[in-house]
Amino acid sequence: MKTIDLRSDTVTRPSPAMQAAMAAAPLGDDVYGDDPTVNRLQATLAERLGFAAGLFCPSGTQSNLLALMAHCQRGDEYIVGQEAHCYKWEAGGAAVLASIQPQPLDHAADGSLPLERIAAAIKADDFHHARTRLLALENTIGGKVLPQDYVEAATALAHGRGLQCHLDGARFFNAAVASQRPRESLAQAERRLVAGFDSVSICLSKGLGAPVGSVLLGSQSLIADARRWRKMLGGGMRQAGVLAAAGLYALEHNVARLADDHANARLLAELLAGVPGLRVDLGPTNMLFMQIAPEQADGFMAHLQAQQVLASGRYTLRLVTHLDVSEADVRRVAQTIRAFF
Ligand SMILES: *Cc1c(COP(=O)(O)O)cnc(C)c1O
Repeated sequence: MKTIDLRSDTVTRPSPAMQAAMAAAPLGDDVYGDDPTVNRLQATLAERLGFAAGLFCPSGTQSNLLALMAHCQRGDEYIVGQEAHCYKWEAGGAAVLASIQPQPLDHAADGSLPLERIAAAIKADDFHHARTRLLALENTIGGKVLPQDYVEAATALAHGRGLQCHLDGARFFNAAVASQRPRESLAQAERRLVAGFDSVSICLSKGLGAPVGSVLLGSQSLIADARRWRKMLGGGMRQAGVLAAAGLYALEHNVARLADDHANARLLAELLAGVPGLRVDLGPTNMLFMQIAPEQADGFMAHLQAQQVLASGRYTLRLVTHLDVSEADVRRVAQTIRAFF
C-alpha cells in the first residue's frame, strides 16, 4: 500500500523530467556569480514578478531572514503576525541572528493583520523605542489568500508611515492560482499580488515540487545587501545551478497545475462533509484543517498511521495536497477518515 503523505507540500520528490533538467543544467560557481542556471532562475522570476533582482537561497527561512536583515538594522523592528512563519516558525532568527525585534500582532480570522493594529504598533520616533522599519505579511497564510483590497491598504499604510513591506510568499503561486479573476491572466494575477511589496520570498520546494530552494526578489540594492548576509549565514552555494534547474523546471511546468491540488483539497473537504464529530476547515488552496476531539486524537492518529496516511498536528490536523497526491489518493484518505468516525 502506498503511503499518502499529507503532512506538507514539501514532501514532493523531483519527477524524472525535473531530474533530467537538473542533470542537463549548465553550471558554474554561484559565489562568483558564475552559475548560468542560477542567474537564469533569478532573472526569470524577477522579471516575471516585476522586480529588479533575485537571489537564490537554500531555504525560505534563510530568504526571509535575508529580507529582514536587508530591510532592518540592529535595533530596528518589524511588524508581523503571531502565526507568521517569519515570526513563529523560524527559531527566532531575526532576534537571535540579526538583533531585529519582532512586533507580533494578532491575526483576524482571514489571516490579515487589522490596519488599526498595524497603525497603533508603529512606534513614534523616540529613543525609548525600537525603530519600526518593516511590515511583513504572508500569502497564503494557513492556506488562505489575503484579500487583495486588504493587501493594498496595508502596504499603503506602511509606506505612508515610512515602512518597507516584505511578503513571505512561500506559497505565493498557490495564492495567485487561487485568486485569479475572470478575464485576468495568471501573469496578471501574479503581478497584482506582489504590487505594493518591496521584497518577496518564494519557495520552490513546496507545491512547485523542487527539492530545495527559495528565491528572494527586490531592488538591486536590497539584493546586494541580501547577498552579503547570505554569504555570512553560509548560504553561498557553488554549483547551485543543479538545484536552480529544478526551480526553473518547476516555474515552467508546475504553477498552473496547483489548481489540481486546490481541487483535490476541495474534494477531500466535500467527501468529509457531514461526518459526525469532525470539523473541517478549508481555505481556497491546498490545505485542509480538521479539529479532533482530544479524547479521540490518539486513536485517530494510530488509525491513520495503520492505513499509511500521514498528517501533521494532533488536535488540529493539517492535510496538505500536492503534486504527489492524486484524486484517487484523496478518495482513499476520505474513506480512511470516514471509517474511523
Ligand atoms: C515553509 C515556509 C517558509 C520557510 O521555508 P523553508 O524552506 O522550509 O525554510 C517560510 N514561510 C512560510 C509561510 C512557509 O510555509
